Amino acid sequence: MISNHDPGKFHRSLHGWFRKNGRDLPWRRSRDPYAVLVSEFMLQQTTVAAVIPFYVRWMKRFPDIASLAGSDEETVLKLWEGLGYYSRARNLRRAAQEIVACHGGVVPDRMPELLQLPGIGPYTASAIAAFSFDRPVPVLDANIIRVVARLFDFRKPVTDAKGKYFIEQAARSLLPQRGGYLHASSLMELGALICKAGRPDCPSCPVRTFCRAVSPEKIPFKPPRKVVIHERDLRVFARAKGGIFLVPSAGPRWKGLWLLPPTRQEGEVILELSCIVTRHRIRMEISRARPRAGWKAFDPANLPPMPTPHRRALAILLEQHTGRARLRPSRNI
Ligand code: SF4
Repeated sequence: MISNHDPGKFHRSLHGWFRKNGRDLPWRRSRDPYAVLVSEFMLQQTTVAAVIPFYVRWMKRFPDIASLAGSDEETVLKLWEGLGYYSRARNLRRAAQEIVACHGGVVPDRMPELLQLPGIGPYTASAIAAFSFDRPVPVLDANIIRVVARLFDFRKPVTDAKGKYFIEQAARSLLPQRGGYLHASSLMELGALICKAGRPDCPSCPVRTFCRAVSPEKIPFKPPRKVVIHERDLRVFARAKGGIFLVPSAGPRWKGLWLLPPTRQEGEVILELSCIVTRHRIRMEISRARPRAGWKAFDPANLPPMPTPHRRALAILLEQHTGRARLRPSRNI
């Protein structure tokens, strides 16, 4: 399908480039399906640089499926604290429990069984098939979708059904007969290092002679941005006898985590903090309050898992009992 497409030459150019230039990432040192599972959960909507320290710490604490399956949710969330999108941590633990209960502790190697596990969709299932079991299957993360769209000069949205179908068929046409690990890793790395979002470095590209893109910086085509929703979130800082009062999250957003207690009363704001959660820009306004029944006191040195904005706010409040501080908006929470 690509112009000048000689599959052997395309694969030699791409894979040879990866062998020389691929980064030494911690999860690339292992083909263990559990290690791949952990890294793929962590890398969803999170950058490689942010994931590395979390991945290394996680693998020390939970080196295998059995140790994760036997853990309690609070410990798992505490270890995930700061990485955001906490449903990933809960699903990863539940997936480990199902693998122990239904598959004898062995990660299944077939797509239908992988797709039955919590938190595993077509992308993660195909990543495990390629990276652990070396299957030549299309692994369509954002980097690979961009590379494929540019190679084929696809100038339409890649997020609707027609666009997804086109990209999957195009990616299939590039697959080698064997060596799924090398192929998926190479395409992914090309997207991360050379064929980047925005302006790609085409003169350095190992497959430029195969590429049809005329204006690659305009590909993939981006539909108009979704409207940002502004929210105000009133919270309180309550302290007594050295303890900090918190409440468990009542909604799905931060299920299993602990938060500064909410309030409807407008008090004197001692801290404002802005953060972005998906499409929501949240302005958290914190005032003081007396502890109430139903709130739970925690030792500040031994806090339960908390989402990043609440943990950051508490750290500032503990440091500055008076005064007012404003933080920059934080992403990835
Ligand atoms: S030639 Fe440029 S646009 Fe085409 S795949 Fe390489 S880096 Fe991407």
